[in-house]
Amino acid sequence: MADPTVDRLLAGASKQPETVRILDFLRSRNAVPNMETSLPGDTTSYGRFTPAYNLLQISPSSVESDMLHELTHAAQFALEGQFRKSKPNQFTEAYTKLIGESAISAGQVDSMINRLDPKASKEMSKYRRQPIENQAFAVADSVFPEQKLPAIRQPGAHSNATLATEFMILLDLADRANKPTSTSTKK
Ligand SMILES: [Zn+2]
Repeated sequence: MADPTVDRLLAGASKQPETVRILDFLRSRNAVPNMETSLPGDTTSYGRFTPAYNLLQISPSSVESDMLHELTHAAQFALEGQFRKSKPNQFTEAYTKLIGESAISAGQVDSMINRLDPKASKEMSKYRRQPIENQAFAVADSVFPEQKLPAIRQPGAHSNATLATEFMILLDLADRANKPTSTSTKK
């Protein structure tokens, strides 16, 4: 069961408060993914999150930034689940604004990852510009700027820090929307 690479990257990434926040968010929803080192070391993909199996895979050459990127995808999926079940509120409004209403289906996430091709820089920047990828790269790159891969982790339209902050606010809004309203006068 023990996976030393997962343990090392999880411990390293958890030194940053953003990782702790995302893990707490996932824990509170019982949505912490299963994690394993199961991608080949020479792949161009350093991580993968497959919602259908709630599975986070990393490769032996992955770094903390990759772990945080995939954890961000896990949190995005949990957010999407809440978005679909929610009546319009502050959270759904922010979600629509930041991510859009397009579904993050398992297949979509997979195909986005499969499109990552080191030889096709145009395709890569398209990949990077996908809202959920842009957001995941922004979170990981702003927390671990020294681990950026310049080839694919080009800055998006907004600065990474802004996108990362917006993502953290989205988590807060989702938590707040989930709480029973203590001020309610309903019986
Ligand atoms: Zn990604």
